[in-house]
Amino acid sequence: MTPLTTLDPIVSLCKRRGFVFQSSEIYGGIGSTWDWGPLGVELKRNIKEAWWHRVVLERDDMEGLDAAIVMHPKVWEASGHVEGFHDPFTMCTACKRHFRADHVNGTACPACGGVLSEPKPASLMLETFLGPVRETALRTYLRPETAQGIFVNFDNVLTTSRRKIPFGIAQIGKAFRNEITPGNFVFRSREFEQMEIEFFVEPGTDEQWHAHWVDERMRWYGDLGLSRERLRKRLHGKDELAHYAKACFDIEYEFPIGWSELEGIANRTDFDLKRHAECSGKSLTYFDEKKKEHYVPYVIEPSAGVDRSALAFLADAYHEEEVRGEKRTVLKLHPDLAPVQVAVLPLLRNRPDVVQLAREVHADLRRRRSGGGTLRCRYDDTGSIGRLYRRQDEIGTPFCITVDVQSLTDRKATVRHRDTMVQDRVGVEQLSEYLEGKLGEVGAARDGKGA
Ligand code: ATP
Repeated sequence: MTPLTTLDPIVSLCKRRGFVFQSSEIYGGIGSTWDWGPLGVELKRNIKEAWWHRVVLERDDMEGLDAAIVMHPKVWEASGHVEGFHDPFTMCTACKRHFRADHVNGTACPACGGVLSEPKPASLMLETFLGPVRETALRTYLRPETAQGIFVNFDNVLTTSRRKIPFGIAQIGKAFRNEITPGNFVFRSREFEQMEIEFFVEPGTDEQWHAHWVDERMRWYGDLGLSRERLRKRLHGKDELAHYAKACFDIEYEFPIGWSELEGIANRTDFDLKRHAECSGKSLTYFDEKKKEHYVPYVIEPSAGVDRSALAFLADAYHEEEVRGEKRTVLKLHPDLAPVQVAVLPLLRNRPDVVQLAREVHADLRRRRSGGGTLRCRYDDTGSIGRLYRRQDEIGTPFCITVDVQSLTDRKATVRHRDTMVQDRVGVEQLSEYLEGKLGEVGAARDGKGA
């Protein structure tokens, strides 16, 4: 298949099959916020689960956290966001549209050719008020990154977990940014989810740890099926660096809209802990027992977007193929990410004995566990078998099991493989063991190999 050059087929599939809906759609929608539908929520849960597993459960130097979205306004003064979390914006004097000044070339409006105004800084933070009376309420912000919740809990986690440096804290949660030009579907929205790590290290070891995390995060995307030739790391130029960063790598993915950031991995030095110590008056140092000295740790921050990752996984998995003269759309998702791993389909939905056996197979399979989680298994008898296969291909289900009349006597069912469309006849009692092995095989084959 020729590579996609637009997100349109993915947007349309997401709507058609229930991955993503426009927020408040029945009221005409609200700019650039999205609702994840029945399949989308499963995809995102699987991404988050895979991330948490890799960076927290499989390591012995990490702790988890779930901090509040709304924090004390002083947090955002200390972090530099109140003063500096701005993008330059410009407005067209003719059509009144807004643009990120650093995203347009020249002084002509990209939409109507009108004259653009002088760029001005616009804060990306969404304000909110805590308390019933606006005049006396505490004015604060919806967090624009989850990171600060980790920094202000550094000492709490350090002392309660009795950790020694190096160690990290991981968190998944919502973040909000009043983006000037949101767009490209869920790539850039005003409400999104982040998966962030703050990894605390001894100063002087920070560059080594930075390299470790860039490699580790690149490997994670590849292991979950992103084509390795569409992944690259890019070092920020000095002029691009955020005020807190000593160095930053972006992990970029070649989306249908071109190479774009998937994750940022910054060396934040001791900037944040020092600022919070200064502004709160609390000590945020670490005591190194071997060296008998206190120091402020340096921090490596791998910061990924859940929604943006979901878009990359969808774009990479999307394939259109021709099968016996007909177009087949198939999502070749890694089985760990597929919203449904196995669909059980009766060949004849008006034969009660076939339906009953299919339901028994489904009930048995969904009790099983696969790779530490429940096998994600669906029963569907709402159409002809051809239609049901098409639907499962489109949502990325690696295996379909069909129960037919012969199954009633030979106690065997047909297992159809999503990627090859090969069909195997397998004993009903052996299905779970068979699938366990095959799901692993599909996973290994998807492992960053792309098409
Ligand atoms: P960009 O340059 O694309 O605006 P950024 O450098 O401001 O992104 P970071 O602050 O590094 O982004 O955020 C870390 C990650 O959070 C990004 O790599 C991305 O995956 C995700 N992210 C950031 N902003 C958005 C957004 N508006 N919508 C969806 N995801 C986002």
